Amino acid sequence: MSRIDRIEAIPVAYPDPNDFGTTRRTVLVKVATRDGVVGWGEAIAMWPEACRAVKTLIEEGLAPVVSGMDAADTQAAWEAMRRHVWWYGEGGIASMAVAGVDMALWDIAGKLKGQPIHALLGGLKQDRLRANASSHVNKKGEAACVAEVVGFFEAGFPSCKLGFAKKGESDIGGDPDTDVSFIRALRAALGEKAEILVDIGNGVRWDADTAISVANRMAEYRIGWFEEPLYPTDDAGYRKLKAGTQVRIASGEREFTEAGYRRQMEFVQAVDVYGVDPARVEGITGFARVDALCSAHGKVINAHAWSTAITTAASLHLSLASPNSEIFEFKPFPVVVQDELVTEKIWHKGGWAYPLTGPGLGIEVREDVVRRIAG
Ligand SMILES: [Mg+2]
Repeated sequence: MSRIDRIEAIPVAYPDPNDFGTTRRTVLVKVATRDGVVGWGEAIAMWPEACRAVKTLIEEGLAPVVSGMDAADTQAAWEAMRRHVWWYGEGGIASMAVAGVDMALWDIAGKLKGQPIHALLGGLKQDRLRANASSHVNKKGEAACVAEVVGFFEAGFPSCKLGFAKKGESDIGGDPDTDVSFIRALRAALGEKAEILVDIGNGVRWDADTAISVANRMAEYRIGWFEEPLYPTDDAGYRKLKAGTQVRIASGEREFTEAGYRRQMEFVQAVDVYGVDPARVEGITGFARVDALCSAHGKVINAHAWSTAITTAASLHLSLASPNSEIFEFKPFPVVVQDELVTEKIWHKGGWAYPLTGPGLGIEVREDVVRRIAG
């Protein structure tokens, strides 16, 4: 048995060209067994104080709980960690802390068995997924924003997801007429086959009636889904939206637990595509449980993989081991946590995302890069 020994949580900060050069933050988690097997995980806490809190939760709270446990028994460790955070968990930074350790333990479990994580999850359900350029609309003026997305398709992506009201010089995500005009121009520039997904997101403040109107106007340009136009807990708004449009509704990336997604599916019943982030949702174990719910309810799952290559690797294993995923998101512009953090960049081939075949996460993390961006 390979017993869990040291756990280190390392906050990192890096400029991201995919987010208008903004400094983005996350927490990388390194777990080592007593016999020297190392696994990596991630907890996407994003804000400096949340990253420091997650480090504390992991190193002072979770590490003593799982120390000495069998590293390959991911289920037992996950249950022990959830029991420990019973009072303050079930969401937020506690779920992220559990996620970071859980992900690293799956990496170790795969390495111990000599198998990729998708094999431990029951094997591939899909051979490949359409590669999606997941970007923020942040250029000045419609023409520049359209040209940027056209560039993604020229670089081989068959699909794009466009975040509205992000940092930068664009006014997308304000006036609905401007937003609809952008999607109209984009469809004209990209042609009929291009997949266009619209991620309205938390920077936009619309009521349900406005969201319905915009969804139906964009439907004319055949958008694939309409993501998070309302506050995540606006159940009545989402129900009204669902009743008011034929466009598929996506939401869920601010849920943290299987129970939260079950509530969405069984009670709210307004969402078709569930965004799930293994670095938030209590890890690979948590994501797999949400995926089982998606299977039971006939829903689409979409991995939120918009951080480092560690979460991208976990998301790719989970997405290909799921029958419920349709696309796989990539950050289109080079960034240190994707291009330098691992020895081999995870990238599409000819517009498709293929499985990682190495044991565990199937990546080799460069610890010198981790130390360089620590902070
Ligand atoms: Mg989103």
